[in-house]
Amino acid sequence: MVPSRRFFVLGNWKMNVNASRIESLSRLLSEAKLDRKTEFVIGCPSCYLSHARQLLPSHVGVAAQNCYKVSRGNFSGEVSPAMVQECGADWIILGHPERRTIFGETDDLIAEKITHALSASAKVVACVVEGKEDRNSNLTEEALAAQMRALAPAVTDWSRVVLAFEALWASGTGVLATPSQVQEVLAMLRRWLRLNVGNHVAENTRIIYAGSVSAATCQELARLPDLDGFLVGSAALKPDLIHIVNARHRRPGKLPLILSHRPDQRWA
Ligand code: PEP
Repeated sequence: MVPSRRFFVLGNWKMNVNASRIESLSRLLSEAKLDRKTEFVIGCPSCYLSHARQLLPSHVGVAAQNCYKVSRGNFSGEVSPAMVQECGADWIILGHPERRTIFGETDDLIAEKITHALSASAKVVACVVEGKEDRNSNLTEEALAAQMRALAPAVTDWSRVVLAFEALWASGTGVLATPSQVQEVLAMLRRWLRLNVGNHVAENTRIIYAGSVSAATCQELARLPDLDGFLVGSAALKPDLIHIVNARHRRPGKLPLILSHRPDQRWA
């Protein structure tokens, strides 16, 4: 049977929004023509989850950008999956490259967080990362396999997990990954799932790509056989995001008009 993996786009606002910016971004997303065949989710800072949930169209999901590995306790500054769910998040991003590199989150901690988030009925975008050193030393497969070996046993329900592959060397560096470089790694991850988890999971798990995806690059990437969507950082704050959500639109030349914005404009 041909797998039906719904195209998935996660626009991550990171720590780049405040209440009024969320209002203008949500207004523009509400007015835009978004391809409903795409599952579209916005990653929002925890303190604004309820605000974003109220303002975004109901067909757009909301994701927390992190959470802790238990439901409650003396963990100042942390939030649990149950808490972010009460604030309107249906998804949680775990193992984002910034959590790994800036905040020192280990594979083991990320695995514990994934297990707890799934046990709390959340849906999870689980990130794996390829650094510049991995690519330059031809160690991409080993680096990703090590992260997958830690992550996969933590997953109790693959139907609630989207796997995000981030080429860190192509994020905000001015260097772009070519479609064939992206396809090679996505196929590698799917092969890893097939060999280590099973055929059904390999065929049905959505694997998305992150690394400076923009309006200019999304359509070519969207045609890759193993690509099921995008995790988007900087372009999530621009009208580019609408083009990215619509990247699988049937007639590439006739994308829905996006108000009067140019793709390179920022939303104020
Ligand atoms: C990210 O940091 O996860 C990301 C995808 O950012 P960008 O799209 O800006 O590379």
